[in-house]
Amino acid sequence: MAESGIENVIIIGSGPAGHTAAIYAARAELKPLMFEGFMAGGVAAGGQLTTTTEVENYPGFPEAVSGPELMDQMRAQSIRYGTRIETDTVESVDLSSTPKKVVVGTGDSAKIYETHSVIIATGATARRLGVQGEDTLWQKGISACAVCDGALPMYRDVPLVVIGGGDSACEEATYLSKFGSEIHMLVRRDELRASKTMQQRVFDNPKIHIHWNTNALEALSGEPNAFGHAFLGSVKVKNNKTSEESIIPAKGLFYAVGHTPNTAFLGDQLKKDETGYLITRPDSTATDIPGVFACGDVKDKVFRQAVTAAGSGCMAALESERWLGEEGLI
Ligand code: FAD
Ligand code: NDP
Repeated sequence: MAESGIENVIIIGSGPAGHTAAIYAARAELKPLMFEGFMAGGVAAGGQLTTTTEVENYPGFPEAVSGPELMDQMRAQSIRYGTRIETDTVESVDLSSTPKKVVVGTGDSAKIYETHSVIIATGATARRLGVQGEDTLWQKGISACAVCDGALPMYRDVPLVVIGGGDSACEEATYLSKFGSEIHMLVRRDELRASKTMQQRVFDNPKIHIHWNTNALEALSGEPNAFGHAFLGSVKVKNNKTSEESIIPAKGLFYAVGHTPNTAFLGDQLKKDETGYLITRPDSTATDIPGVFACGDVKDKVFRQAVTAAGSGCMAALESERWLGEEGLI
């Protein structure tokens, strides 16, 4: 914090984007303050990777690394260079005032922090469907990220199911067709929402079978393995036009039914697209308010990977430092 009692930069969110921003801001001696959140958006501090097992595509870990361990290491690195971390969720912000205000807690326990610059790294939450069996089999055959989990040995040469009809679902079904023996796409309407190019890619792929007007009803366990652990074995589905129910044998069930960016606490203060993602300037993390930067999944509905989030976290810290310098605030 500067001597005035006003922070140089407050980072909101603690996934790969937030921690990378923190490491860069701390090494630039901005003494960043991070609010890592307390189950904000339904996700623990550390972000989405705390909900997964092996991360095999983050550079530097040839033997893979567990998601929680990777985030513990990022947190330790942030602290090592001088980031102060508070385990609080930001409830609201006032980005129109000078300095800007960040509010944690509610009612009598609400605390207001003043800051010159804000980095928003609050991520997004993958939507779940709440089908029967989902909680028991989550990450035991059910996943919300095919690009992250699809290449795991357990999904090789076995039937897989993808739910959704958007670009993500088409992209994920196409990606999974490299590994699975057959891919069943469950689409709740009689058409896809995805772009025409993505649709065509799916239609042209002989491994992908589309089940139109179909919803998942239940995720069913398969036989327990040698260690007594049961994984997904099949998916019970229902045709919502004919009401006919059937069972699709499957070892993997991938949700691609959209994400919700964690932007509600911002109200209408920043430009968002129609689905709530923050809009930043091209090739930049700058939002429409000077001194406010956004990085990671909260502004990226296309790539949504740890390494892309980390990359944009780096950009946000560098752009924040540059802005503070240009404004004569550091
Ligand atoms: P997040 O990781 O979403 O972190 C945001 C954090 O901010 C959260 O902890 C949240 O609680 C906190 N927060 C939200 N609102 C507030 C608030 N108001 N105040 C304070 N804090 C707040 N990517 C890969 O590259 N490889 C993988 O193998 C991989 N596996 C995945 C597996 C699963 C199951 C999932 C769901 C995702 C996976 N991803 C993977 C995607 C990757 O996790 C995300 O792209 C990445 O975590 C995004 O980072 P982020 O920093 O933008 O946000
Ligand atoms: P979308 O919101 O576009 O699509 C979600 C899909 O899930 C829709 O088909 C929707 O059905 C379906 N769905 C939602 N809820 C349910 C439910 N309860 N049961 C069954 N199906 C459900 O999300 P995406 O993640 O696909 O895409 C988000 C944005 O990111 C889009 O703008 C997309 O264009 C973009 N994107 C672009 C990519 C690229 O260009 N390479 C790759 C990935 C995403 P319905 O259609 O009936 O509403």
